[in-house]
Amino acid sequence: MLASEFSENLKKYADLIIHVGLNLGKGQRLAIINLSTAGVQLHAAPLVREITCSAFQAGAEDVEVFWGDEAINLLRYENASEKVIARYPSWQVKGIMDIIESGGAVLTIRSNNPDLLGNIDPDLLSKAQAAYWEAVNPILEKTGSNTVNWCVTSASSPDWAPRVFPLASPEEAYENLWQAIFQITRVDQPDPGAAWEAHIKELESRSQYLEAKQYAKFHYQAPGTDLTVGLPKGHLWGSARDLAKNGIDFVANLPTEEIFTLPHREQAEGIVRATLPLPYGGITIEDFSLTFENGRVVKVNAKKGEKVLQNLIDTDEGAARLGEAALVPHNSPIAQRGHLFYNPLIDENAACHLAIGKAYPFTLKGGDSLSKEEFAEHGGNNSLIHIDFMIGSNEMDIDGITEDGTVEPVMRDGLWAFDVY
Ligand code: ZN
Ligand code: ZN
Repeated sequence: MLASEFSENLKKYADLIIHVGLNLGKGQRLAIINLSTAGVQLHAAPLVREITCSAFQAGAEDVEVFWGDEAINLLRYENASEKVIARYPSWQVKGIMDIIESGGAVLTIRSNNPDLLGNIDPDLLSKAQAAYWEAVNPILEKTGSNTVNWCVTSASSPDWAPRVFPLASPEEAYENLWQAIFQITRVDQPDPGAAWEAHIKELESRSQYLEAKQYAKFHYQAPGTDLTVGLPKGHLWGSARDLAKNGIDFVANLPTEEIFTLPHREQAEGIVRATLPLPYGGITIEDFSLTFENGRVVKVNAKKGEKVLQNLIDTDEGAARLGEAALVPHNSPIAQRGHLFYNPLIDENAACHLAIGKAYPFTLKGGDSLSKEEFAEHGGNNSLIHIDFMIGSNEMDIDGITEDGTVEPVMRDGLWAFDVY
C-alpha cells in the first residue's frame, strides 16, 4: 500500500466512522475511548486525528480523547499492589459519563494486544476484570440501552498485527492488518457509504423476516454442539442500524455482519462448542464448550484459559446465562478471509455467536421501559458482563421451532436457509 493510498483510506475510514457509524450530530460532543485498555492506544493517534478532523467538519462541539497505553497497563500488573491493579481509573468513567449525560456520542477504538497479560496470574486477572465490569457498568448501561449514538471500531497495532499475520514481518503484518480492516469495513470500495446502505438494508430484511416468524425456539446442531435455546415472546431482531434515544440513527459496530436477538434466560438446554478462540481480558480462552441446563451453564470445559472462563461465568448470577443469540452467514466477508483476528468485535462477525451475560433491553418489545426484575420475568437476562463467543461454522444447522412445534430451517451448513426480497 502506497503512503498516499494509506492516508486516503484512513481518511475514508474516519469519514465512515463519523457519518455511518456514529452519524454524529451537529453540536454533539464526542468521547473517543477504549474501556478495555483504560484508554485508546497511542499508536491509534493517526486515525484519532483524522476522526477528530472529520468530527469537527460534521459540526461536533468538541472531541475529547481518553488515551491509554498497554505497556503501562502491563507495568501496573507487574509492579502495583493487588488493590491498585483492581482499581479502574474512576476519573475516566466520570469524564465519559459527563459527555454521555450532555448527549454526546461515544466512540471506542480497539487495537488490543490479545496476549498482553498471558503471564499474569489468572486469579489476579479475574479480580481485576470483576472490578473493571463494576467500574465501567454506568457507561455500558447507557450505551447498552442506546441512550446516545455510539460505535465500536478497530485500528491496526504493532502488538496485535503479528498475532493475526504470524508469518509476515512485523511491518508487513501491521500494514496487512490495516488493509484487512479497510476491506472488512468496505472502506476499500469506491463508495463505502453506498456499500453500507445496501448492506444495512439486506440485514434489515433478514431481521424483519425472523421477527415476523417469532420462533419459540432455535435448535443449533454442529460437531460438538446440540443446543436448544428458547426465544421469549415479543423478542425483537436487531441489526446494523439502530435509533438512539437522542434521535440519531447509528451503526454500533464497524464492521457488522450480524442480526441478533435475546434468548430466554431460563431456556437453554444441551451443549455448545466454541468454534473460535475467545480473547478475554488479555489472555485467549481456547477450545471450549459450555453445557446448559434450564438456561444456566452447569459445566465449563476449556483446553486453555478454563479458570478465567469459569471465573467469568461466576461473575454474577446472570453471567452463567445467555444474553444474545446472533446469526452470521459463513460467507460473510470476514468469514471468507479464513483467519482469526483475535478481536471479538471482528471475529463475532465471522460466525454465529451467543453471548453470556446481559441481554440488550431493546431486543425485547417494550424492554426499555421495564425494570430489571420485570425484564427478567419476561425472559431477559441481567448481568454486569456481556461476552460474545463464536459457535458458527460451515457445519452448523439451525432450525426455528414455532409455538405449535413446526420445524423450519433457518441456516444450513452455516448459510441462510430462507430468502428475503
Ligand atoms: Zn453480537
Ligand atoms: Zn454481543
